Amino acid sequence: MLKIRSSMLNGYLDCSRRAIASGYKDMVQDAGYRLNERDPHVGACIGTGAHSGSEYMLRNPEADLKDSIEVGIESFKKESGGDLILDALTPDKNTAEYQVKALVLTYSQEVAPNVKPVMYNGEIGTEIYLKAMIDDETMLTGHIDLFDEIGMAPHDSKFGGQNKNYFPQLGGYSKLSGPNGLTVKSDPVIDWIPRCKKGKVPEYHRITYDRKLCEEAGMMICKKIKADVARFLKTGNPWSFMPNVNSMLCSNKFCVAHGTNFCGLTRGVK
Ligand code: SF4
Repeated sequence: MLKIRSSMLNGYLDCSRRAIASGYKDMVQDAGYRLNERDPHVGACIGTGAHSGSEYMLRNPEADLKDSIEVGIESFKKESGGDLILDALTPDKNTAEYQVKALVLTYSQEVAPNVKPVMYNGEIGTEIYLKAMIDDETMLTGHIDLFDEIGMAPHDSKFGGQNKNYFPQLGGYSKLSGPNGLTVKSDPVIDWIPRCKKGKVPEYHRITYDRKLCEEAGMMICKKIKADVARFLKTGNPWSFMPNVNSMLCSNKFCVAHGTNFCGLTRGVK
């Protein structure tokens, strides 16, 4: 049985080979290919911290804001314990902790007061793990940050510096909701609070996506992944997965296949 995570669907559109190298590492290595180890990127660790802080806030509506911020910072520290890839926006860990605090603060002012997590299996409906068979051989899975009872729609929080296109991932969440007893009644939502320079206040953006288009995109990409994986298992040929060397993430900072025998196009460039 093939398991597909909803969170890999967006990346599959950008570079299928990178998404496979990161999502199905064992399959690629078992076929004889080498993949790189990669230090975590500071942006991803900040995102994990901000997610943890905002989840704590929704689960504990009576708790003090400083507790949510502390949970966020502790989560960031845990995630970024070893070496870390830094960038211009976050040149050191102190700045990163400041940014986690700022993101959780904005979430507390702009998102938390306007949503109501649904009760799911007796618990407050945040970080809900869902799974469903989408055909006889393929299971789709996903962690929904929040299923909002007010709009009856899944929400996903994003804390990256740039807004991207999330149709396929949200389509996965929307498709998973129904079979797990969560009735979707409106378009899925991205709660985007971009990490920004120290000293600035992060702005909140509520972005809704057309549900039908999301579901179409998500299901078409699942079909493509299934067909591509079947081809790879039969032939062992990395061309089963289309590379995109023009992707903004095509570098050894973001891709474990960069410069390896799994992605020949990035080897031997002089
Ligand atoms: S090195 Fe570039 S083209 Fe190759 S898999 Fe990674 S992102 Fe895609």
